[in-house]
Amino acid sequence: MQVKLRRLHAIVSSLIRQNITMPKHHLLNPLSAFAGMFFLILLSNPIPAQTRDYAQAIGTAADKIAPQVIAWRHDIHEHPELGNQEFRTADIIAKHLQSLGIEVQTKVGVTGVVGILKGDKPGPVVALRADMDALPVEEKTNLAFASAVKVMYNGKETGVMHACGHDAHVSILMGVAEILAGMKKDLKGTVKFIFQPAEEGVPPGDEGGAALMIKEGVMNNPAVDVIFGLHMDAQLEVGKITYRPAGTMAAVATVKITVNGKPSHGSQPWSSVDPIVVSAQIINNLQTIVSRNVNITENPAVVTIASIHGGNRDNIISEKVDMLGTVRTFSEADQKLVYDRIKQVAEKTAESAGATADVIVPYEHYYPVTFNNEALTAAMLPSLQKAAGKENVLLSAPKTGAEDFSFFAQKVPGLFFFIGGMPKGQDPSTAAPHHTPQFIIDDSAFTTGIRAMCNLVLDYMQMNKK
Ligand SMILES: [Zn+2]
Ligand SMILES: [Zn+2]
Repeated sequence: MQVKLRRLHAIVSSLIRQNITMPKHHLLNPLSAFAGMFFLILLSNPIPAQTRDYAQAIGTAADKIAPQVIAWRHDIHEHPELGNQEFRTADIIAKHLQSLGIEVQTKVGVTGVVGILKGDKPGPVVALRADMDALPVEEKTNLAFASAVKVMYNGKETGVMHACGHDAHVSILMGVAEILAGMKKDLKGTVKFIFQPAEEGVPPGDEGGAALMIKEGVMNNPAVDVIFGLHMDAQLEVGKITYRPAGTMAAVATVKITVNGKPSHGSQPWSSVDPIVVSAQIINNLQTIVSRNVNITENPAVVTIASIHGGNRDNIISEKVDMLGTVRTFSEADQKLVYDRIKQVAEKTAESAGATADVIVPYEHYYPVTFNNEALTAAMLPSLQKAAGKENVLLSAPKTGAEDFSFFAQKVPGLFFFIGGMPKGQDPSTAAPHHTPQFIIDDSAFTTGIRAMCNLVLDYMQMNKK
C-alpha cells in the first residue's frame, strides 16, 4: 500500500511539474492540474474517507443528544450518591441501556452496571469506563441543580456533592451508548460499557471500585481487548483535551509508621527513648528520598507525612507515635525504590536512637500508576484530534492525583485522558479545584467527551479488524 501511494504521489508530482512547465495552450493542462490537486488533497489527509464520515456522523449525533446528556447530568448532580451506594444512579443507567436493546448486568462490584453492545460485524471488545460516585462535600455553588443531600459520614452529618465531575462521566457515557447503539450495523466488534462505583474509595476494610469489578469478572465474557476512560478537568477550558503517554496519574499508597520508644517522666528524658524526637528525625530524613534518591529528571515523586499522633500531656514522654502519610510515584521502579527507602530510613533512624519503627507501605489505600499504553496512545491520538480539533489536544504534565482506572489498564492496554470543563476565557487560577464545595463543570463541556469516546471506539475497531 505504501509503495502504491508513493508511486501515485510521484505521478501527481510529475503532473504538477508538467503543469508548471507546459505551454499555456496545452489542452490537458487545466485537467491535469485539477487531477493533481485532487490527488494531493487525498494524499495529504491520513484519515480514511470512511472514518471521516463516521466522525462527521458522530459530531452531528453528539450535538443532537447534548440537551439530553445535560438533563441527565443535572438530575444526577442533584441526587449524588457516595461510593457503593449509587443505587439511584445505577438504576437510571440500567434502564437507559435496556431501552437501547443493550445487554445489561447490574450489581457488578456492589452497584456497578455493565452494558454489552454487540455490533453486527465481528471484531475486538472495546471497554469504556465511567465512574459514578460523589464525595462527602457540602455543595456551595448556587447552581439551580445544586445538591442539598445530607448523609451521616464518619459519625457526622455531611453534605454530598458531585465535586469531581463523575456525574458528567456517567451522562457522557449514557449519550455515547445511545449513539453507538444507533450505529450497531456499522460496529465491527463489541462495546462494553463499564459504569463503576466507588472510585473515590470505600471505608477501610470494605471492597469496591475497579478492583472489585475486576475480581467479579468485568474484564471477561467477552474478554476486553482495550479500555478507554475520560475525566473532567475543572481548570481546563471547554473544548480542550489533555493526555499523556505512559505514567499519566500517580500510584498512590498510604504509609503507616509506628515509632516505639520507652516512656518516662518528662523531667527525666535520660530515662526514656523519646518517640517524639525520633519521629521528628524520621520526618526530616524522609525528605531526602525525593531530593536525593529519586531521579527527578525521569519522573516526579511525593512523600508526605500528613498525620502525627503521640503523647497526651506536657510532662509524660509517651511510649509510641503513630504517623500516616501518602506516597505518589510514576513507575514501578520508583515505587519500589521509595517504599524500600521509607522502610530503611524509618527503621535505621529509630535504631540509632534505641527505638524501633514499624513501617507498613502500602497501608489501606493503594492505586497503581495510571499507565497509558504508549503504542495505543500514539495510535489513538488522531481520534482525539478529530473530536476536539488538532490545536485543542494538548500533552499534559503528569498528575500527582491517582485513579483506580489504573487497575483496568493493568489488565489490558488503556488510555485515560482529560476533557475541559471550565467556561472559555476564564482564568484557571480562579476555577475551583476538584473536591471543593465551589467545583463547577460547564454544560457546554460534554460534546467533546461524547465525540472522543465514539471516535475512539469506531477508529479502534477499524484499525483492529478480526
Ligand atoms: Zn476525585
Ligand atoms: Zn474523579
